[in-house]
Amino acid sequence: MAAEIYLFPCLKDNFGVLIHDPASGATASIDAPEAAPIEAALQKTGWRLSEILVTHHHGDHTAGIGELKARHKCRVVAPRAEAARVAHVDETVAEGDKVRVGALEGRVIETPGHTSGHISYFFPADKLAFVGDTLFSIGCGRVIEGNPEMMWHSLLKLRALPDDTQFYCGHEYTEANIRFAKTIEPNNKALAARADEVAKLSAAGKPTIPATIGAEKAQNPFLRADVAEVAKSVGLAGSPAWKVFAEIRERKNRF
Ligand code: ZN
Ligand code: FE
Repeated sequence: MAAEIYLFPCLKDNFGVLIHDPASGATASIDAPEAAPIEAALQKTGWRLSEILVTHHHGDHTAGIGELKARHKCRVVAPRAEAARVAHVDETVAEGDKVRVGALEGRVIETPGHTSGHISYFFPADKLAFVGDTLFSIGCGRVIEGNPEMMWHSLLKLRALPDDTQFYCGHEYTEANIRFAKTIEPNNKALAARADEVAKLSAAGKPTIPATIGAEKAQNPFLRADVAEVAKSVGLAGSPAWKVFAEIRERKNRF
C-alpha cells in the first residue's frame, strides 16, 4: 500500500511531516521540531507514532523528541555521526542503511554540509524524500559545519534521485528563496513559473512543498551550479561547480 503523508507547520517556519503505512498503522514523524503540533497531527489523523526519523541535531528538528517518546514509546532513529548530539536515540544509521516504518522501507542518504552528519531519508517505492535542511525548494541549507564542496556533493546525491521524487524539507523558505534565485537567473522561465505557482499557494495560505526533484533541477540555482550559464552569471565561467555553488551560497548569506 502506498504511503500517506500529513504535512503541517511547526515553530515559526518549520514543517512537521508524518509518513504513515496504512497496512500496519505505523507512522514516522520526520524530525520533531516541537511536540504539540505533532500531537495535534496524530490526533487529527488518528495515526499511531511508531518512529521519529531525525535528519540532524539542530534544536528546531529535535526539541520535541523527549516528550513524544515518553508518551508514545516510539523508536528514535538518528544519524550515527550525530548520535551524541541528539537525546533519546534508539538506533543510529548511516549511508545505505534501511529504515522501516511498518511495511514502508526507506534508505539513508548521507547529506553532510548543513551539519557534519546530516542525513536524508528516501522511500523508493513511493518516491518520497525527506531532506531536512540540506535542500529547500529553490534553496539549500546554510553550510554551517561542513564546507561548500561537501554540501555541493550532498546536493548532487539528492539531484540524482528520480525526477518524479517528491521531497519534503525542513522549512518554508520558498518565497524568499525565489527572490534570491531571480538575482542569479533573472531569465529562467521555469523559475518564473515556479514563482507564479508559489505566489498562488502562499496567497491561499498553503504550503509550497512537496516539490519534485525534476522541477528543482530546472528552477533551483543551488542545483544548477554546473550549468554554464549560471557559472557565467556569477562571474565564474569555467570554474569547478562546487566553487560556483560556494559563490551562490555566499551571495545568499548576504542577500
Ligand atoms: Zn538545521
Ligand atoms: Fe532547521
